[in-house]
Amino acid sequence: MSLEATYPRRKTVPCRVGPITMGSGHPVVVQSMITEETRNIEACVDQIIALHQAGSEIVRVTTPTLGEAQCVEEIRAKVIERYGPVPLTADVHHQGTAIAVEAAKHVDEVRVNPGLFLFRKHTGRAASRHNSVSERLGGEVAGSAGVPPADAEGVSVESLRTEMAYSPQEHAAEQAAIEESFVPVVEACAKLGRAMRVGVNHGSLSERMLVTYGDTPDGMVESALEYLRICEKHGYTNLNISLKASRVPVMVAANRLMVKRMHEEGMAYPLHLGVTEAGDGEYARIKSTAGIATLLMEGIGDTIRVSLAEDPVNEIPVCYDILQSLGLRKTKVEYIACPSCGRTKFNLPAVLHEVREATRHLVGLDIAVMGCIVNGPGEMADADYGYVGAAGGKITLYRKREIVKNGIPQENGVAELIALLKADGVWQDAPSDAEKRELTMLKTL
Ligand code: SF4
Repeated sequence: MSLEATYPRRKTVPCRVGPITMGSGHPVVVQSMITEETRNIEACVDQIIALHQAGSEIVRVTTPTLGEAQCVEEIRAKVIERYGPVPLTADVHHQGTAIAVEAAKHVDEVRVNPGLFLFRKHTGRAASRHNSVSERLGGEVAGSAGVPPADAEGVSVESLRTEMAYSPQEHAAEQAAIEESFVPVVEACAKLGRAMRVGVNHGSLSERMLVTYGDTPDGMVESALEYLRICEKHGYTNLNISLKASRVPVMVAANRLMVKRMHEEGMAYPLHLGVTEAGDGEYARIKSTAGIATLLMEGIGDTIRVSLAEDPVNEIPVCYDILQSLGLRKTKVEYIACPSCGRTKFNLPAVLHEVREATRHLVGLDIAVMGCIVNGPGEMADADYGYVGAAGGKITLYRKREIVKNGIPQENGVAELIALLKADGVWQDAPSDAEKRELTMLKTL
């Protein structure tokens, strides 16, 4: 078994969402979605601005009907008037043709959901098929996994499945209907220079996909591929794809499979990663990180959204922390701090807080705060600067692995660190609020 220390990022074609490019070696893009009703224009404008100021580089707005899609024109104009341009995505689900064509006039990206775009009410065919196989085999059937090949009478699962499967003619008819309703959207996006996200959700697969592939990553991937093939057939490739699920293993498996299947079909579109319905609080953050970071570490993923059942502004620091911790984007100082133990020479949490307060604006630096000399210097070897506890209430300052000064009284430690940073020419005064706003605009455009 070979274990890789690092994975190169997957090579993709670029997808351009207004001024933002995802994929093709660009930094992983952070995005989120507003929660206000689209008809509530002023509230939407406020939330879009707040999200962009927080660092959301693309902001999504839901457009469930044509009326909401029309509202986006005014929303966009007011955002520009009050704040400046913000890359916007319109979220389109049921019977989306007219909605998506209208939305494409006002946004930088249209998201379509293949499971709902050409909406067919479920007839129960998927459930019947699932149940009949399950009953005959006397066990639970979950997708294609773990199903025995035949029952006691030798009736195969495949033959049971075939009873309710879609015929080739039914598949062809459904695909033709999708193409007919989807092509106007493809043409509108191509003409206006808009991007498109083909965004599949595990929880909203079409009945045809459920019958054919089960409630599985295969069904998610095939749903996306059908739409991608139509786009390519019509010469449109400014695309990205998402395959989201509320269960991390499903989301991870679907994205890995998507990469494989795209590769087999000669496609290399960027991927948007996210765990849906993650909930709120600490567990939601851990769950999202588990799914998103697993894939990013494999080089998969070009834009991310952490979905929280909270104010969406709270999603942005989580996104940036995931990216910073994986070394994919650097948006703040990286602090390396030991957990402290019986050898610690000072109150480590208090000292770490003090050092952070003094230096947190020096984006790009790695600063280590270590409780003692025994393991400290070795464990902080990658840091630019080290602040290490020594005997007798003293501090030792390091530049990389080199001791710059020792025997510093603890109460002077932070001032000496600042003096060292100034002497090295890496110190800057903290920016004002106005400068911070300008930096956010520059960072995200
Ligand atoms: Fe303990 Fe020193 Fe390691 Fe910190 S660096 S955990 S104080 S041994």
